[in-house]
Amino acid sequence: MFGIRRFETPEIIMNSIDPQVTKFLSAQPLKMFIGGQWVDSASGKTFETRDPGEGKVLATIAAGDTADVEAAVAAAQEAFQRSGWATMPVNERAVILHRLADLIDKHADNLAQIESLDVGKPRGQAAAFDVPHAAQTLRYYADLAVQTRRRDPIAVSGFDARTMRVPYGVCGFIFPWNFPFLLVGWGVAPALAAGNTVVIKPAEDTPLSTLYFAKLAEEAGVPPGVVNVVTGLGETAGAALARHPGLKRMSFTGSPEVGRLIAEACGKNLVPVKLELGGKGAAVIFDDVNVDAVAEALAGAVTLNAGQVCCTATRWMVHENIRDAFVNKVTSTLDAMKIGYGASPDTNIGPVVSEKQRARVLGYLDKGVKAGAKFLLEGGRAEVKGHENGYYVKPALLTGDPGNVCALEEVFGPVAYLMTFSDEDKVVELVNSSSYGLANSVWSSNLDRANRVAERLVAGNSWINAHNLFAHGIPYGGCNLSGCGGGVLGPETLSDYLRNQTIARPLA
Ligand code: NAD
Repeated sequence: MFGIRRFETPEIIMNSIDPQVTKFLSAQPLKMFIGGQWVDSASGKTFETRDPGEGKVLATIAAGDTADVEAAVAAAQEAFQRSGWATMPVNERAVILHRLADLIDKHADNLAQIESLDVGKPRGQAAAFDVPHAAQTLRYYADLAVQTRRRDPIAVSGFDARTMRVPYGVCGFIFPWNFPFLLVGWGVAPALAAGNTVVIKPAEDTPLSTLYFAKLAEEAGVPPGVVNVVTGLGETAGAALARHPGLKRMSFTGSPEVGRLIAEACGKNLVPVKLELGGKGAAVIFDDVNVDAVAEALAGAVTLNAGQVCCTATRWMVHENIRDAFVNKVTSTLDAMKIGYGASPDTNIGPVVSEKQRARVLGYLDKGVKAGAKFLLEGGRAEVKGHENGYYVKPALLTGDPGNVCALEEVFGPVAYLMTFSDEDKVVELVNSSSYGLANSVWSSNLDRANRVAERLVAGNSWINAHNLFAHGIPYGGCNLSGCGGGVLGPETLSDYLRNQTIARPLA
């Protein structure tokens, strides 16, 4: 669970940029990684990524398109057939993935700096959560792959038969900008551990840490062509990857709108697709809780990563008996949080990722208020001294009708919508009226009630007395508009990347 100050890491020298990071960013443009080579885009085109805390260009990157995706998929196919990665004994592959995880640990400060610069998130958060969690995911799936039964004998009399579990081939991944490095780790770790090869298209707003991941994969001894990164825009590089017939599996994390396009493109080629999409999570708060503690926990949850968290709690269903006490505590807590630059050690809330994203958040506040919602805490544009061109937003709390646009749609900023309830059945109905189904939480000191309600809420995840819980081995993923095709982090995700092949012969 993420509290408000959870991510401070004093060992990090805040504000300083490591010379290795400066060197990494100084290549202009930054190249893509295809078939073990660092290459410019075939067209020679580039795009820019900005530091959202300053509004300044951070780096220029090669802008991949169809030709680059063709080259990357061809390299991944070649590596699947001939590099030995797919056929390597699984324990040897695990050693390489552990080496990669160790290198991530070794470069953790650099990665946290890069992630904070590119996404805007507090550096301490990237250092304490995003980076180590990605490394741990590689280790988790590497170890799980070693334990997985690759040959299951089939006991049917008169036959000698067995089922083998083998990797599919080339797997495509398209990621969003909110947790770029973490999601690469969560996404590709099971695919690689199973013996597949991958082509990754990071978000255009945040490509840097994925390129750094490729650099470390190269250093760890992952064979050329096993990990490929095509940087570029969604409509060009992303669309070219999604429609590529050479893929065997596709995984997309992002908005439901783009998820539909990916599913359509993959459907045409009969490529199975895993979709991890948006959310509009609810927190149901009963009147037997420690109000101050819950208010602090939810203030932390809704401002984590400046509210750009798919599974966080943005619909707060508060029992009417504690409504005033909760509102007092949560608004004073949110109001006291420090909005600032990601590298400043006391920052609680960094900028949102782009000017476009800030306009989207402010636009939602405007639409919500015009439709009748009232501010309990007025949000809006924030100014940060010394960083006047950054994309900062104040946290906001709205209240009003459950049908308000801000109660229904994903705002993706530090914005929550408060509603009250008194009846358990009615609040369950209200939570379940959402089109999304990613994650909700129930807060009560009565664990029988909390468990009962948690089981009735329709979503991939129901957390109790906590929000935003991620542990290796506990599956995470959504249903309805929040996703389909299997989640991540659970042991069964490895099976998503292994196909069955049955060998049988009649016994004489
Ligand atoms: P997005 O859908 O706009 O973009 C995601 C990725 O898709 C980017 O790499 C983008 O370049 C690419 N893309 C865009 N258009 C494309 C197209 N036509 N064809 C192929 N690729 C294309 O999402 P975003 O704004 O980057 O991220 C925010 C969304 O991601 C939110 O809805 C959030 O809830 C969701 N998200 C979900 C999870 C989860 O685990 N369920 C995790 C993180 C983010």
